[in-house]
Amino acid sequence: MPTTKDGIIPNIIFNPLSLITRMTTGVIFEGMMAKLAAHTGTCPEATMFKKLDTDNIADMLEAYGFNRNGTERLYNGMTGEYMDAEIFIAPIMYQTLQKYTIDTVYSNSISPTDAMTRQPLHGKKLNGALKAGAMETACMSVSSINFLSEKISEHSDGIEDYICTNCGTRRVVVNEDDGTYSCSNCGDMANITKFRTSHSSRLFFNELAGMSCGVMYHARKPVFEVVEEEDTQ
Ligand SMILES: [Zn+2]
Repeated sequence: MPTTKDGIIPNIIFNPLSLITRMTTGVIFEGMMAKLAAHTGTCPEATMFKKLDTDNIADMLEAYGFNRNGTERLYNGMTGEYMDAEIFIAPIMYQTLQKYTIDTVYSNSISPTDAMTRQPLHGKKLNGALKAGAMETACMSVSSINFLSEKISEHSDGIEDYICTNCGTRRVVVNEDDGTYSCSNCGDMANITKFRTSHSSRLFFNELAGMSCGVMYHARKPVFEVVEEEDTQ
């Protein structure tokens, strides 16, 4: 870091263009005033609510042996060479924004789930899952549909469920270990179909059932539809 002839080393170096783009020219006035206050031992007001007489401040700075505009000679901290530039240097009050990557970075493989929907809780505070928003989902859908399916279903509330295609209900009893496949409606005539779904979907149908709304299920194999584009020429 550069030093003044008195050995003062600045804590922060600003790019002067940053003050213009951020429209914080008040910092320069505050710095001029603070430089003067540090030498006079006074406590002046340099807020934007009061009009500042910069010429008067410049005169007083000059009286204390500084340049009128608050610039000083700075020397290269390593070589001691004089830096051939007018550098404004002043004490200012500065607040740091404590925003570090280490506080924000977060990932997990397993997270607690919601009792109702069985979907992962969201948020770092709850040790929950990361949020896949609309933009992330769009990126995943064009890059890898398998990855999207894994994230939305298998890593979330994806389950395997059974229906009876004979009567179109979910009133089935299945125990794959025992080889039990039966339907409360059809008995041994049941035609059980296993399919992938989500627990929140099942919850929705349970709530429909709670409202006395019957839902019929029909199983069909996945169909890949090819949409033929019309020849516009
Ligand atoms: Zn049945």
